[in-house]
Amino acid sequence: MSFDEEPKGNDDPSGDTEGLHHRISRTEQDLSRGAAISFRGVSFRYPGSTQDQLHHVSFDIESGEYVCITGPSGSGKSTIMWLIGGLFCPQRGAIRVGEWWLGEHNQSILRRITRVVPQSSHLFSGSVKENVAYGNPLLLSDKDIWKALDMARCNFVHEYAKGIDTHIGERGRSLSSGQQQRLALARALVRTPRVLILDESTNAIDSESAEHIHNSIMELEDVTRIFISHSPDVINQATRVLEVTRGRVSSERHHTSRDEGYTDLRTS
Ligand code: ADP
Repeated sequence: MSFDEEPKGNDDPSGDTEGLHHRISRTEQDLSRGAAISFRGVSFRYPGSTQDQLHHVSFDIESGEYVCITGPSGSGKSTIMWLIGGLFCPQRGAIRVGEWWLGEHNQSILRRITRVVPQSSHLFSGSVKENVAYGNPLLLSDKDIWKALDMARCNFVHEYAKGIDTHIGERGRSLSSGQQQRLALARALVRTPRVLILDESTNAIDSESAEHIHNSIMELEDVTRIFISHSPDVINQATRVLEVTRGRVSSERHHTSRDEGYTDLRTS
């Protein structure tokens, strides 16, 4: 299968036939839209761990939503992110992203349609262009790379004599942590994903630049945005706020317009 080829959806493995489990038509329009996400009774433990890190987690995110996942450190927020991104499979329950139910055979698909930006991303010894194009070097033009760099406020690259051909050294050691975060964001934005997840990914970036990046992300079309954050701005602007506590979704609020305020969907 070529990189750009969209794979076939898979059948619902959970056995639940209600609501969201209808067969989804696979038109071109569907494929370009932000992906809806469903967790159904998901429990997960990391390989080698003796206890579950997520306990029977269920929630739905609609296509194109702007979601904030919040909660104390160690509660499982990043773990949810890695599961959506297809890095791990849950031991129990089911996860759907777009047309695909997560299973061993389609984890690679999730890695393709989602972009996950953790607090610290792996940069490798190579040029700025190679680091941003990561995995797609032949599909991207220099113009695409510069556009992503500008969205991620990588102004410093403009100052390099060799521009995007500048070598950044092993693990981006020549860069500050804020510059590394910006490059990681540019990598995520260079091809608009169907799901974009940012895990406190601008915490080493000055507030003005972080706001610029945030606004650029909000202007993207056809993408489901998930921010793991404690920022009141993100929490107040999000259409859905999931609070995670000790591996469970302890509260969920949803609102569809600024004026309507939030609807509490559940509280523990
Ligand atoms: P948060 O993002 O809310 O800070 P995490 O999802 O990173 O929380 O972590 C949830 C729990 O999973 C914590 O107890 C953490 O120690 C554990 N954990 C995280 N990553 C791993 C891993 N790779 N292997 C084993 N346990 C992990």
